[in-house]
Amino acid sequence: MSHPSPLQKHDLLIDGKRVSPISGEYSTNLNPADETQIGLVASGGVDDVNAAVRAARAALPIWSGMRAADRGRILYRFADLIEAHQDELVTLESRDTGKPLSAVKRQDMPAVIDTVRYYAGWADKIQGSVVPVRPDALTYTRREPVGVVAAIVPWNFPLMIGMWKIAPALTCGCTMVVKPAEITPMSMLRVAELALEAGMPPGVLNIVTGLGSVVGDALVQHPDVDKVTFTGSPNVGRGIMRGAAGNFKRVTLELGGKSANLIFADANLDAAVRAAASGIFFNTGQVCSAGSRILAQRQVYDEVVERLVKRAQTIRVGDPTATDTSMGPLVSARQLATVLDYVDIGKREGATLAAGGERLDRKGYYVAPTVFADVEHEMRISQEEIFGPVASVIPFDDEEDAIRIANGTVYSLAAGVWSADIGRVHHVAHSLKAGTVWINTYGYTDIRLPWGGAGDSGLGREHGDAAVENFTEPKTVWLALR
Ligand code: NAD
Repeated sequence: MSHPSPLQKHDLLIDGKRVSPISGEYSTNLNPADETQIGLVASGGVDDVNAAVRAARAALPIWSGMRAADRGRILYRFADLIEAHQDELVTLESRDTGKPLSAVKRQDMPAVIDTVRYYAGWADKIQGSVVPVRPDALTYTRREPVGVVAAIVPWNFPLMIGMWKIAPALTCGCTMVVKPAEITPMSMLRVAELALEAGMPPGVLNIVTGLGSVVGDALVQHPDVDKVTFTGSPNVGRGIMRGAAGNFKRVTLELGGKSANLIFADANLDAAVRAAASGIFFNTGQVCSAGSRILAQRQVYDEVVERLVKRAQTIRVGDPTATDTSMGPLVSARQLATVLDYVDIGKREGATLAAGGERLDRKGYYVAPTVFADVEHEMRISQEEIFGPVASVIPFDDEEDAIRIANGTVYSLAAGVWSADIGRVHHVAHSLKAGTVWINTYGYTDIRLPWGGAGDSGLGREHGDAAVENFTEPKTVWLALR
């Protein structure tokens, strides 16, 4: 009789070494596509966090004291190694999250590599300036690394969102402790090994896996952490702001969204509905900027609903390893329960379930792409983030009505507007409460463009030069000349 091979243990990475957690405990990691066990993940604790922060603190003078161009070279090598190992990383990410292999290969991995190369190029271009104030003084500014950074990462894009934090922090000369989401840590652990192989000194990039309420909280409370960069839910974000107040840590928060995609009657409906469908169904709806509210002008409302339903019904949901799969499962049993719960809420609130709404009859956390029509702005399915493949389609009368509805949530992360009227699209774009507005397109991000929101969508911006500002502190130097 053959025995299943024992599950591989995935240890913490502290000070350049893989180490078992002090507790000796591991949690079992599942593949959401078939609910099989795929590994044992170290349950880090407070003492592991303390060791990782000590290592990051000790490595800070080495890393920040290096020639900036040398730091950049190590980051370029890091990008090359990620590229060389991308097949392995794609498989790890897909098995851990349930994302289709093809999507990780086409979207996540190129973005990860691009992010590292983009910030590698920044390393020797981070500069202060000379600010002449008076003739008897030389006055200038420097940008110094913020120090030890804690990065708390979610499960929807574990490597990509992780790298949005790691690459800029490292280029600025900071050292880090990264806490991946408890259910999706595999790719990050492997990538941190590649960082060592690229020549990053031990202690610069430490990974502590484990529960948010234990590892995440210990990082947030730690007096020797200088900054927390977080992506996740507004509630945890609120706790992080409170916790960070102890030693006035710098905080960047990327939280949720309930983004509105506005389709005016004069829009190219083919393009608008195609993009609206991928705007909500991409990554099984587990995207902070998912276009979860589709606002359609009354004249075209029925047509938009009808076309959207058709699209939802033709999406190929299934095995992430199959090349023709366009939508995988939700990430966990918990997320599945949340999504099904919201489907019930929508029905009880009186919205019309026009497509989907049910769990698929197979192993894995699959749910059918779902469309609710006749949604009213005040309903919970229109106000609360579901984080699943559930579109709420809401009618509007005119521009003013559309803007009122779009701006009527606690979020302000992203929005889309579809119209052939060039004056209108700009006017609407300027009136929307959102960190990003897409016009006649939806969903693109690029590491060169600021990304983030306000209200319950968070605090501060990632990407571009905004991230460089986040991970540096300005210092003024005043030298008396006479
Ligand atoms: P979460 O906020 O609970 O988890 C995100 C990260 O924070 C994880 O690494 C988690 O371990 C950590 N964390 C949890 N509790 C913590 C604490 N007390 N202190 C410090 N860190 C802690 O999010 P979730 O449970 O994974 O997902 C719930 C909801 O969050 C989703 O339904 C969605 O609304 C939102 N979310 C948003 C994004 C985004 O991209 N903005 C990503 C994932 C989840």
